[in-house]
Amino acid sequence: MTATKHFIGGESREGSGETLSNVNPANGKPIGEITVGTRDDVDAAVDAARRAFDDGWSESSGSERRKLMLRLASLIAEEAQTLAQLSTDDMGMPIGFSWGEALFAAEYLEYFAGWADKITGDVVPVPAPNVLDYTLREPVGVVGAIIPWNAPISITMFKLAPALAAGNTIVLKPSELATRGPLRIAELAARAGFPPGVLNCVTGSGAGTGAALVAHPGVDKISFTGGTETGRLIAASAGRDLKRISLELGGKSANIVCADADLDAAAAGACAAVFVMSGQQCIAGSRLLVERAVYDEFMGRVSVAARGYVVGDPLQMTTQLGPLVSQRQLDRVLAYVAEARDGATITLGGERLGGDLADGFFVGPTIVTGARNDMKVAREEIFGPVVAAIPFDSLDEAVAIANDSPYGLAGAVWTNDLSKAHTVARRIKAGTIWVNSYLAINPGAPFGGFKASGIGREGGKHALDVYTETKNVYVQLR
Ligand code: NAD
Repeated sequence: MTATKHFIGGESREGSGETLSNVNPANGKPIGEITVGTRDDVDAAVDAARRAFDDGWSESSGSERRKLMLRLASLIAEEAQTLAQLSTDDMGMPIGFSWGEALFAAEYLEYFAGWADKITGDVVPVPAPNVLDYTLREPVGVVGAIIPWNAPISITMFKLAPALAAGNTIVLKPSELATRGPLRIAELAARAGFPPGVLNCVTGSGAGTGAALVAHPGVDKISFTGGTETGRLIAASAGRDLKRISLELGGKSANIVCADADLDAAAAGACAAVFVMSGQQCIAGSRLLVERAVYDEFMGRVSVAARGYVVGDPLQMTTQLGPLVSQRQLDRVLAYVAEARDGATITLGGERLGGDLADGFFVGPTIVTGARNDMKVAREEIFGPVVAAIPFDSLDEAVAIANDSPYGLAGAVWTNDLSKAHTVARRIKAGTIWVNSYLAINPGAPFGGFKASGIGREGGKHALDVYTETKNVYVQLR
């Protein structure tokens, strides 16, 4: 099996290091080798990105960038099925979702293409005569973008789209568990006409390739999505030479269901919140807080909805839950469930699935009832289809439980009472709050975490702030 090549300076390049083998998580069969980028490979990619930045890209017009971005968006939409297949084989996302993800990535890019020629500064009032004071927004420079495996195409785009719109160049380091889709996007960018070096992709491991990218003195900014512990390491390394950083990290989001809510809609939403993508989502609603008056009835509805999920071959369009990404992730999820048995009750799932699925890493929807917020199952990010259901008696208590977490990525409230909805939305310390909804991501809206869930925002004009430096120009007029 041939190993992946890096994409550097507009062309595919053999790597100089070792390789890693990957298996298809749905059946445990080998799917290919990933080249582990060395320090030399990272050097070559950063040099290519620097040359492209200095040789004209940073001065390119917004309309030129917009046209290239729209062309790339069309190519991604045309290739959505191929990109989906790569993601599904690599990390097991059901094909219907990975297809949707690729199309969403194209839309996300289109949205930011619209920004490319609208990034403006301000004229600043000055308390003195004969002065013109204005600001310029300039690209930060070479961006190292490091992404996880769980939504490889869309997360690639969450970084590339605003970075390219603002005139930066990029070295992308995909996850070793889902490399081929992001790598294909770098190739498509060359086909769309982006100058060589504007988008480079170095494949490889985190501790080797990723760490070399973060420590590289030629990188001006690191944009990272991944686990909170990795985020801490990256922040410490990037902090040594004060690189700009944005961090999109883990979560343990609270999904609050009030007694007055539309309970059927809330039950469907509660399941989608944590079972879609087998719970391998940063925004998973993995803590389900339910008003005690309806707790038993509501959990009954959740259980019925959860049993309806189709778990199986991720290549079937009807499949809703595929495998977990790896044996390691499977072991981790089962270990959390085993520990939860001490003090809470597993009312559904919690076991590796057998039969036709025995060769893959499958766990079905898992419901933990009678959990307390101080249990590990409610405090730590599991990244599996496991929901911990906790009863509450008052809205104050629900908000207190929701906020009693090291994380602050997202949350939701289900209610028909407008004033409860807005009160909870205001009081929860998290970057995104849904009301009577869950999971929706709007390219124009800010997305990111409070507390240990991250630093900075993706989405909308907020993303442009983290990919630009603001310069002030003070002019004394005669
Ligand atoms: P991870 O932290 O293990 O790896 C993420 C990326 O970082 C990979 O490309 C990996 O190779 C690289 N990496 C690992 N160690 C590194 C190091 N020392 N230096 C530089 N790079 C390094 O995370 P994962 O398992 O791939 O993804 C799951 C995590 O991602 C979960 O915690 C999830 O919540 C988080 N996530 C967050 C968001 C968000 O937007 N907040 C979105 C998706 C996933």
